[in-house]
Amino acid sequence: MHWGMRRHSRLTFMPKRAAIASPNPVNCQKVHIMPTPMFDTENPVLVTGATGYVAGWVIKGLLDAGLTVHATVRDPDDGAKLAHLEKLATDSPGTIRYFKADLLQSGAFDDAMAGCRVVLHTASPFTTSVADPQRDLVDPAVGGTRNVLASANRTDSVGRVVVTSSCAAIYGDSADCANAPGGVLTEEVWNTSASLTHNPYSYSKTMAERAAWEMAGEQDRWQLVTVNPSLVLGPGLARTQTSESFNIIRQMANGMMRTGAPNIEFGTVDVRDVADAHVRAAYVPDAQGRNIVNAETNALLDLAAMIHEAYPSLPVPRNTLPKWMVWMVGPFLSRDLSRRFIERNVDHDWRADNSKGIRELGISYRPINTAVAEMVAQMGESGQIRGL
Ligand code: NAP
Repeated sequence: MHWGMRRHSRLTFMPKRAAIASPNPVNCQKVHIMPTPMFDTENPVLVTGATGYVAGWVIKGLLDAGLTVHATVRDPDDGAKLAHLEKLATDSPGTIRYFKADLLQSGAFDDAMAGCRVVLHTASPFTTSVADPQRDLVDPAVGGTRNVLASANRTDSVGRVVVTSSCAAIYGDSADCANAPGGVLTEEVWNTSASLTHNPYSYSKTMAERAAWEMAGEQDRWQLVTVNPSLVLGPGLARTQTSESFNIIRQMANGMMRTGAPNIEFGTVDVRDVADAHVRAAYVPDAQGRNIVNAETNALLDLAAMIHEAYPSLPVPRNTLPKWMVWMVGPFLSRDLSRRFIERNVDHDWRADNSKGIRELGISYRPINTAVAEMVAQMGESGQIRGL
């Protein structure tokens, strides 16, 4: 494996560099017993942010296991937003109950949490276009996490809390990888480069996860496990999705980068594997700590090649833009492409070690090209991608 290898101007899909695993990966050991979730069907399980992209698949896994899911949503009267969850419940042995809860309303999660042994806290805004990063990202992410964990402190039945964190809490810019031991991100690494003005979404996730560990350390009844996914891709269960994951693929498939893509690498993972990781983090008895959930490193052009392979007529980028050109024009094209962002993310390698989650939780990974193709098909069917 050539860790320093970069991909340039590739249009046809080739197998991507798999995430870096430990030198002795678990599936090569002679005797390996896959950690198996032990479902506790006696008690309900709480999922916050139930309308979300990731949460939908998490709830499907829980309902399929026959569990009773307490689902918190901002508006339980919005039937259209809950239709896919209703269908999941109808088609599965599990049961779903809805509770109204806003992250910013103190005590809002108490009713939903009553009697639950496991809490899965997924709710957090995932968007890059905000007017006020403190109000729109940090306050709900950090305040919401504190609010949910304060409910856990008041709810005696709770024994485990799984917080959906992110690889964004591990690194801010790809350049940060070079500072990680061996140039590879692990669960030991924390994002120290993001701020309110630079990668504010990553800052919100970092501050929220730090708050979670701080509160977990102040008590000893419930145990905290975090799931730290890279960029999540794959089809959604709802008709429309607000997650930023969809914007990235939609914009590329609609020709926004048709003149070329900056050479930016990042981790990618299928939403179904992220959901499975959540269920395992909740019910594998020895689950603990932070868990990087990442399948492959891909550059923007790799995702374009995956789209092209499935849908050759779409106007995806066919070549990499040189860094100097991105540096010149980027800030005029998008406020996300600041000179600092370009300097610290274009032409930098991104590497992460996913071996802890494979070893301790038993996570396995699907290839990303399928996830991307299914996502494009779904957005084509709903008219969000033109020319399919
Ligand atoms: P999403 O579809 O936008 O889901 C976000 C959820 O948070 C929605 O259910 C939303 O509820 C809820 N929410 C936002 N603000 C809220 C508030 N003030 N009160 C109550 N609920 C609120 O995004 P997603 O991709 O599924 O993200 C879910 C989690 O995964 C987030 O914690 C995100 O940071 C994390 N994550 C995502 C990715 C990724 O690539 N997608 C990668 C790593 C980590 P409404 O429906 O009412 O808006």
